[in-house]
Amino acid sequence: MKDACAFLGPGMSRIEKLEEKVHGKRRNTETDELRLGVLLNSDTKDNTNNSSQSIFYAKKKQPMEKAQWTGIVTSVALEMLRTKTVDCVVAVGSGEADARNPEPKLCFTEEDILACRGVKPSLSPNLKVFAEIETNPEIKNVLYIGVGCSVVALREVEQYLGLDNLYVLGTNCADNGRTDGFYKFVNNATDKPDEVLHYEFMPDYKVHLKMRDGSYEKIPYFSLPAKELSSGVIAESCKSCFDYVNGLADLVVGYMGVDYDESIPMNLHPQYVTVRNERGQKMIDLIKNDLQITPSTTRGDRKPFVLQTVISDDEAYLGRGPEKGAPRFVGNLIAWVLNKVGPKGKEFGMYSLDYHTIRNYLYVNRIYGKERAKEHIPSYAMKIVEEYEGKNGDISKRLEL
Ligand code: FAD
Repeated sequence: MKDACAFLGPGMSRIEKLEEKVHGKRRNTETDELRLGVLLNSDTKDNTNNSSQSIFYAKKKQPMEKAQWTGIVTSVALEMLRTKTVDCVVAVGSGEADARNPEPKLCFTEEDILACRGVKPSLSPNLKVFAEIETNPEIKNVLYIGVGCSVVALREVEQYLGLDNLYVLGTNCADNGRTDGFYKFVNNATDKPDEVLHYEFMPDYKVHLKMRDGSYEKIPYFSLPAKELSSGVIAESCKSCFDYVNGLADLVVGYMGVDYDESIPMNLHPQYVTVRNERGQKMIDLIKNDLQITPSTTRGDRKPFVLQTVISDDEAYLGRGPEKGAPRFVGNLIAWVLNKVGPKGKEFGMYSLDYHTIRNYLYVNRIYGKERAKEHIPSYAMKIVEEYEGKNGDISKRLEL
């Protein structure tokens, strides 16, 4: 199992080899697949005008209560169990001490699956259920729900689990942390840390804290104490991750590239869906009559915003950022301006992905050293870094600081 870990041995570069095994093809690095991963229908560069393509927006016509967004993930899982496509679903439920802490579960009933609705905002020890699957002869057909790093490990050991069918429903994921990191973040972000159920860094340049009573507190990124939060919140593994898009899942659900409408709360808002192969298509088709599907859209130019974000974030990492975040009204004003002039839709998703790729490239080179970084970082991520390196060596220069 240790050999399968996405952060040991060949690290994240193993995704490229596994991609071909899982999807039957590698990502085409001349198209959007460079960033978004293998797509079932990848014949066009820009699939913005065709909802039958492999990236689209969707929301449940009747949003599911207590789900994170409108409940697409839970609905697919329920339908796979109801139709007996699978006999077990691996999902993440709540820990005993604090319901906000993640605990992986093997779900055999609809009640089990419903109990796992919503994101528990820290790293889930999902690998521990693999041994249970391997040793239980009754489990032959499985739906696995998980974030990218756990899916990488799953794909490495898939052949040893003795399954007839494995379906993987991934979520996009960036910047998770350990449980103590979650507590540090909420203690610094709000006056009501015990009320926070979970939080999401949203495309409107604000972090949305969902409170226990169902309300949201929205804090502009620029008003967070970046210097204080630059350590002890995001896990070291997340700063070494190059799989925001969950490239080895069959179907992926997230929000990174939605055209976010601030007036709609996340639990009623369209989600961002990526179909990577025929299994993924079969999974989403199970609930297609319950979905309102719209084409993905994209506008703006992410490039200048990416470099600016990398620089201000790196200054905070190096302990040279401002002591405090901007006052709320200033933060809200900056967020408002960026919403007007910044990247939107898929372009926002790629802004976030490019920023995380470069930030993590810097982190891995500084912490692991150049040789290990070369082994760990996939070539698709290096291609993105090179796009920003430019004539002046903008990225390499930061490694000298
Ligand atoms: P639900 O129907 O409510 O289902 C949520 C599912 O999440 C459950 O089945 C449960 O098994 C699983 N889950 C809960 N907690 C965890 C956990 N700690 N680890 C793994 N799985 C868990 N999308 C983005 O676009 N950008 C991001 O940066 C991003 N970060 C995320 C970080 C985490 C840890 C997770 C779990 C998801 C993240 N997502 C991100 C995806 C997004 O938050 C929603 O999960 C997704 O849109 C599905 O919403 P839903 O209403 O369909 O989910």
